[in-house]
Amino acid sequence: MNRNILVIGSANTDMVITTKYFPRPGETVMGEQFLINPGGKGANQAVGAARLGGQVTFITKFGTDLFGEQGRAQLLREGIATDYVLSDPDQPSGVALITVDEHGENSIVVAPGANGTLSAADVTGADQPFAECELVLMQLEIPLPTVVAAALLATKLGKRIILNPAPAQALPDELLRALFLITPNESEAEILTGIAIIDADSLEAAAQALLAKGVKNVVITLGAEGAYLRTPAGAQHLPAVRTQPVDTTAAGDVFNGALAVALAEGQELLAAVAFANQAAAISVTRLGAQASAPYRHELRQPVTC
Ligand code: ATP
Repeated sequence: MNRNILVIGSANTDMVITTKYFPRPGETVMGEQFLINPGGKGANQAVGAARLGGQVTFITKFGTDLFGEQGRAQLLREGIATDYVLSDPDQPSGVALITVDEHGENSIVVAPGANGTLSAADVTGADQPFAECELVLMQLEIPLPTVVAAALLATKLGKRIILNPAPAQALPDELLRALFLITPNESEAEILTGIAIIDADSLEAAAQALLAKGVKNVVITLGAEGAYLRTPAGAQHLPAVRTQPVDTTAAGDVFNGALAVALAEGQELLAAVAFANQAAAISVTRLGAQASAPYRHELRQPVTC
């Protein structure tokens, strides 16, 4: 069983301040708690997959600063191979400034820093991890040409590609045709297809529109409603595991990491989506992004609040 998963994407340091209310332009407010957490969709998904038993190699780029050092150390602590983690001496490491108000609403500003200079040449220069992996998992917090180049190399080597299209943007046909699986949430599916998902018919229409663009399989995640799997052979709505959510941050990242592990182990898509629903449901019962990702042994237990 080859569980090698190549994750390519962003790594950030999340700096979180809780506050009663958001400042208006020009206003300063005194916040409450301050937390520094590792984040970035690429790193979150790499950690999600590693905790569930995936052998993860992560390609990302940090600056040569303290956040970069801490980010690398954190990846190593999670058992992730960092041989292809790069450094850009001219850029800071990626940072997200997150403000959370007393209603749990957040407002986020991301400075991509070195994530923004992870180039196509950086990624395709590292052909060994492509050759050795079972599948490739990517998101869209690194430059799109890098994602396209990685997808084309993976395709040439016969590897399956999962793309979590977040944050959503228009995608070139050559990328869509290369994908084994695309995993938008509802709003991302809407941006990709132009179809507002308001009911079961529009959900199916959006999934069909993605298949028509050449993607082989589609999973649209539906938050507390679970996930919708559409393959050329049929469609199935897999309800979420019922639980009491505490913090849904990075539920999608845990879901994608879990999907990658299940598929790399040879599970069928339907079983893989059920596995991902279960992992993501555990993550929403806990605070934090990477901190909330479950370990493999936890998935055999019933999910309770
Ligand atoms: P995020 O941006 O918060 O990481 P997302 O918008 O990418 O998430 P969602 O569709 O909100 O993705 O959630 C991903 C998956 O997480 C869902 O398909 C489901 O399996 C699980 N999930 C999310 N919210 C809940 C919930 N309240 N209860 C149980 N499972 C949930």
